[in-house]
Amino acid sequence: MAERPGNQILDQLLPAEREHLLKGAKKMDLVLGEVLHRPEDKVDYVIFPLRGVISIIAENELGEYAEAGVIGREAGALLPEALGSGVAMTTGVVQFAGEALKVRASECRRLYAESANFRAALAAAVEFQLVEGRQSLLCRSFHKVENRLARWILEQVDRSNRDDTELVLTQEFMASMLAVHRPTVSRAAKALQHSGAIDYRRGRLTLVSKSKLESYACPCRATLHEQRARIFARSS
Ligand SMILES: [Zn+2]
Repeated sequence: MAERPGNQILDQLLPAEREHLLKGAKKMDLVLGEVLHRPEDKVDYVIFPLRGVISIIAENELGEYAEAGVIGREAGALLPEALGSGVAMTTGVVQFAGEALKVRASECRRLYAESANFRAALAAAVEFQLVEGRQSLLCRSFHKVENRLARWILEQVDRSNRDDTELVLTQEFMASMLAVHRPTVSRAAKALQHSGAIDYRRGRLTLVSKSKLESYACPCRATLHEQRARIFARSS
């Protein structure tokens, strides 16, 4: 596969590097709700999304969970683990359906040793994940739920690389992703609906006005946009 497949890490490789890496790769559907990995799984494959979004879920001792990160076409699910401990530490669930390339972890390790392009692309993806994690911590501590929800919806839409604006999201799922109680997320969704930014009924959320939703998003959206542009400009 010499042409760019649409994943930011793979797209930065030289055509010969990409062809070699993807020789045994398999195209796979990312099916909504599918669990791709769980803690303690041995990492044999890395999943590079082309469209769709994978949520990285952290769980506590009571079985409560929250979103700890998101993997879209800018990254590869389980890539740091494939190059490091070889063991998954989180759960990965498909949040928005799409498709991905599944590549052997051993092939990623080989290319990591050989290719400065691959190392630079990986460094940028990991740096952005760290930046995003720090910003999320700040966001949870200081920003209002409706503003956080607006940002979260916009980021999923951007990342999913899909044209449709209808998302299937239960209130329970959104509450878990934002680490708040369900009535709190319900009030936030209603406020966004009243503003005319979204339509939300029976677990289906439709983006009505992106510009209105942008006006509700917390300042983390602009901060992350700037940081994303800086990090990925340097690595490309
Ligand atoms: Zn925020």
